[in-house]
Amino acid sequence: MGSRFDITVVAQNEAEGNSFIDLAIAEITRIEKLISSWDANSQTAAINNAAGKNPVKVDPELFQLIKHAIGISKLTDGAFDISYASMDKIWKFDGSMTQMPDEEAIKASVARVGYQNIVLDEAKNTVFLKNEGMKIGFGAIGKGYAADRAKALLIEKGVSAGIINASGDMNTWGFQPNGNPWKVAITNPLDKNKVFALLPVVNSAVVTSGNYEKYVTFEGTRYTHIIDPRSGYPATGIISATVFAPKAELADALATSVFVMGIDVGLNRINQLPNIECIIIDETGKIYKSDHIEIEKS
Ligand code: ADP
Ligand code: MG
Repeated sequence: MGSRFDITVVAQNEAEGNSFIDLAIAEITRIEKLISSWDANSQTAAINNAAGKNPVKVDPELFQLIKHAIGISKLTDGAFDISYASMDKIWKFDGSMTQMPDEEAIKASVARVGYQNIVLDEAKNTVFLKNEGMKIGFGAIGKGYAADRAKALLIEKGVSAGIINASGDMNTWGFQPNGNPWKVAITNPLDKNKVFALLPVVNSAVVTSGNYEKYVTFEGTRYTHIIDPRSGYPATGIISATVFAPKAELADALATSVFVMGIDVGLNRINQLPNIECIIIDETGKIYKSDHIEIEKS
């Protein structure tokens, strides 16, 4: 998935632990094959190739993931949108961009974006992208989904406790062997060495979206890899958004959404959702948090 996964399990011995970890790796690899849009043989690529032409029958699992993603688009007024992917041609974050894309190109790029044009047929398990050139991608939700599946599989196999860490996105269950909850350290990206909060994560997920890894800078403004699907411009103002939720899939999608929605709308929306909290850091280093989060000083 282009991300590093670290897996921790509590087991009787090393051999048992390793066999559980192997199961988790196999599960993550399986999901990657299903959802990666750059693997030409994936079902996701098949959906994208048939855009504007015909519906594509997919595994119920992929169908459900797309259905959830559309639900999150509705919840965030389109700040989150898996059909952002057709904008990939405009913004590149691999160092290959040398100048700011022009306004016309940006405007044209959002023309094909719109979750409203992803047509699902529940009875047939088909997905149809209405417009030619439309594309979906799971960059903002796939890592969380894979972590949830790996966790569910290990729980099913009887693993009492563990952590799936997807490049810093944590998904835990059970307790440490000493009986303590797993804890996650939150750092300020402006001062990475300093942990400002240490929070317990009990059978839940913590996901951070940040603009400090993938971005381009034009004339002093930093443009991140998270793009507002409604304007075609990268989100600005926030440097990191951390979301706590029972599931990593939702936490992942909401962390990306908060980035796009901005501080006020983002906090407001999170405060309306049960069992979901967030911590936002703006580009000046100021910290904001949702109403019910308790930060334990580290
Ligand atoms: P990270 O890679 O930092 O964990 P995210 O989970 O926030 O980041 O996902 C960012 C990725 O999501 C981008 O690289 C892109 O593939 C995709 N993306 C960008 N903007 C959006 C958006 N508005 N809605 C859905 N996906 C997006
Ligand atoms: Mg995300």
